[in-house]
Amino acid sequence: MEILIRNGVVYDPLNGIEGEVMDIAIKDGKIVPTEKVDPKEAYVIDARGMLVVPGGIDLHTHVAGPKVNLGRVMRPEDHRVSILRYIPGRRHSGSGKTTPSTTVIGYRYIRMGYTMIIEPASPPIKSRHTHEELDDIPYVDKAMLPLFDSNWFILKFIREDARDKVATYIAWLLRTVKGYAVKLVDPGAGEAWGWGRGIGISLDDEIPGWGVKPRDIIEYTLDACIRLGIPHKVHIHCNRLGFPGNYETTLETIRLTEKFPILDRPIMHITHIQFNAYGGETWGNLRSASEELAREINRNPRVSIDLGQVIFGTQTTMTADAPYEYVLYHLTKWKWSSTDAECECAAGIVPYKYRKKSYVNTIQWCIGLEIALLVRDPWRVVISTDHPNGGPFTRYPWIVAWLMSKRARDEVMKKLNERGLRKCILPSIDREYTWTEFVIITRAAPAKLLGLEKTKGHLGVGADADVAIYDIDPREVDPSRDYEKLIKALRRAKYVIKGGEVVVKDGEVTRVIYGSTYYINPVVSPDLEKSVKAEIEQWFKRWYSVSLSTYEVRIEELRSVKEVKVISRV
Ligand SMILES: [Zn+2]
Repeated sequence: MEILIRNGVVYDPLNGIEGEVMDIAIKDGKIVPTEKVDPKEAYVIDARGMLVVPGGIDLHTHVAGPKVNLGRVMRPEDHRVSILRYIPGRRHSGSGKTTPSTTVIGYRYIRMGYTMIIEPASPPIKSRHTHEELDDIPYVDKAMLPLFDSNWFILKFIREDARDKVATYIAWLLRTVKGYAVKLVDPGAGEAWGWGRGIGISLDDEIPGWGVKPRDIIEYTLDACIRLGIPHKVHIHCNRLGFPGNYETTLETIRLTEKFPILDRPIMHITHIQFNAYGGETWGNLRSASEELAREINRNPRVSIDLGQVIFGTQTTMTADAPYEYVLYHLTKWKWSSTDAECECAAGIVPYKYRKKSYVNTIQWCIGLEIALLVRDPWRVVISTDHPNGGPFTRYPWIVAWLMSKRARDEVMKKLNERGLRKCILPSIDREYTWTEFVIITRAAPAKLLGLEKTKGHLGVGADADVAIYDIDPREVDPSRDYEKLIKALRRAKYVIKGGEVVVKDGEVTRVIYGSTYYINPVVSPDLEKSVKAEIEQWFKRWYSVSLSTYEVRIEELRSVKEVKVISRV
């Protein structure tokens, strides 16, 4: 199919285009030079007075896998309030607000103009389940990040100080379960919790039974990812998440990167940083530590972040940080679920309500925005709510508005807890994001952080034809003043083109298509891999409930796979 998008107001930061009126041509799923498309043959979209940008990329959203599914089961009330009807040929049915079913996830993302999503926490042993759910999410491309934080092989090889083995195991596991990058959640805490400890452990607390510290897990896996040449290196949920005073641990984690070189892109991605940016000693004297963290991030180009922005209302928290969910359950005393995934990791789920009048929740709401506004380099900032932990991804248009409009922030702050606001600096921040910065943090930056900037996150020739067109004219609308118009436009794209096909028209999906699943295949020395695999086999027989051949997710099992091969130095 050939498509010609005419006279749109194009923002494409990876190609240095800022609000230029131009045509975009599409053929065979790719962006091509305009002369390659015949206007008489092509499907022509008149985008005059409309914003044309690359498809959005969500770098961190819990959408598939065992804990997501259990979250759905635990929240029947969440599925009664939001039901999507079946429309033959156009969309499947589904339900759920904070824990939507798979089809609803794809439907809501594509309608907002998002074309790729990353599931950021899957227990390796449950990868088949995660992939099956990802396969069931229509419209978007996807990838998943397996958890390595309390993995017995990682702990064993670190104890042996066997750096090559850590790297080889990571390469083997990513290829075997079809993962995209290394995810660490509260490193070591899941394992320590199995020994009755693990609540709020810091970088230098020893993990019982192993003689290994969280600091070692981060340092060894980071070293391995760099040597493997994995583009998106360690994606980390820092230790002591959710505890007052935890920003010091976050600072220490950031400083851990200093022994590594500055590369072409950040080497550590700190996810949902809001939950790790707390000053004070108790919930009673909690304060925002966004300034301390932003200062450090501004200084250190090795680190990128996503926000974990809080949205007021009842949400469902779910994380591989099982000990923290235990703590949260004792604060909420509502529902709690906890699980352990054999020799690999753990998880917990707790529904939670963020209240505008709450001192703590007010500070949390401010912190996410403060960090986004205080970090100067938008190429290292990505929007997230840590869906569904801070709130549903469907609230992204509001977050964009809060970043682009001080007035929009002030409106919300009028209704918040006054004592909480005094512990924040958000009221005094004047910065407003530009259109270009909005496109960077929702498209170009995540593409670059994933190492996919050749084909994703831009509209240059050769890019995948993933395009969002919004009914808003950046030359006429001042988002600072007219933020309501901005929210309205971003909630439902006028058109969305995915892989060269028009899938949204006038804010409604027109047909069901499926994207691809990306995974990384780091190529390591065959001899090394053979010897490490022999060790893996031994331990599998001894400790795992499944066999090694069952563990592997084969390419034929997935709907559509895109392999990203990297040649490593291991
Ligand atoms: Zn998360």
